Amino acid sequence: MAQVEAPVTPAKPAPPKTPRRANETGVPDNTPFLHPLMKKNYGQWKYHDRPRPGVLHHVAKSGDELWTVKAGTQRQMDVWTIRTLCDIIDKFGEGQVRFTIRSNVEIGVSKWEKVGPLINALESAGFPVGGTGNSISMIAHTQGWLHCDIPGTDASGAVKALMDDLIVEFKREEMPNRVHLSTSCCEINCGGQADIAIIVQHTKPPKINHDLVANVCERPAVVARCPVAAIRPAMVNGKPSLEIDEKKCMCCGACYPPCPPMQINDPEHTKLAIWVGGKNSNARGKPTFMKMVASGLPNNPPRWPEVSEVVKRILRVYKEDARSWERMADWIERIGWPRFFEKTGLTFTKYLIDDWRGARANLNASTHIRF
Ligand code: SF4
Ligand code: SF4
Repeated sequence: MAQVEAPVTPAKPAPPKTPRRANETGVPDNTPFLHPLMKKNYGQWKYHDRPRPGVLHHVAKSGDELWTVKAGTQRQMDVWTIRTLCDIIDKFGEGQVRFTIRSNVEIGVSKWEKVGPLINALESAGFPVGGTGNSISMIAHTQGWLHCDIPGTDASGAVKALMDDLIVEFKREEMPNRVHLSTSCCEINCGGQADIAIIVQHTKPPKINHDLVANVCERPAVVARCPVAAIRPAMVNGKPSLEIDEKKCMCCGACYPPCPPMQINDPEHTKLAIWVGGKNSNARGKPTFMKMVASGLPNNPPRWPEVSEVVKRILRVYKEDARSWERMADWIERIGWPRFFEKTGLTFTKYLIDDWRGARANLNASTHIRF
């Protein structure tokens, strides 16, 4: 007699997955990363002070006290360095750490007795403790050659070279006010607005590889990208391509990201510029835009000595000459730009004058979107 196969029981359908909540916009929730004492006393602080540079002390209305040790990192850390840091935090801290926007770490502890050993462990592993109060903060910088597609220099390398020279000022609180520095490895994106900013400066229009444009670039998007309408579609050698009106081009590099055949980076003609006086806060004075004070500095890896020299010179004069609590912009406004150039010994040239008359009509200077 033929065997009758038992009916196959259909597999139980998997329970419907909870759809992932969209969280692509807005600031992520930071509460899971707060020290328990900070979470408990959130918004309930009585006062805070700084017992020494690099250490914040918060006292809550409940009587709880929290000490936060701030240390600089190199931002792009290898696994070994991250493990070293985590071991220190577990052994000498309380297992909690948060990163600031300037790539510092802040480690909270609930007892003053833990602060000294934590600082010793961080310093001996190469993480300098500082960056609080009127110090020179860690430089906010962008990724450069490591993982961005449009850099004209390596921001991280220039930052490393400069912070090697400024580490003493990072660890002390001896500047007139806090000093924020930033770097940007292309002209158009990440690294703007700081007391002193180091920003790439292209000085020649892009060179177009006409053989590649049709295959790689969406030409209308590239044309639309140019803020001064300097790009036009063109047929070159029988192929659809693009052309640039070089009289209009202001060498911003905005066309290079959507169209890599419009190469603008150049070992000789891509330079660095120093801008000063940017400030976002409303404290004591209104927010200010930066102004360029040195242009055409050589893009000179691996130590960028010319850039470091100009930044250190400005900082030296600011430290000597500014009054207590004057930010860089406040100081320059008080003494005036002619005195700024006299005191710093920087040369004022025609390249520092913002003479682009199209800005009024073309740039988005308000929150309104214009096309
Ligand atoms: S500044 Fe420009 S090149 Fe550098 S990381 Fe930002 S977008 Fe990329
Ligand atoms: S570099 Fe800037 S101004 Fe020049 S063509 Fe490209 S987008 Fe236009």
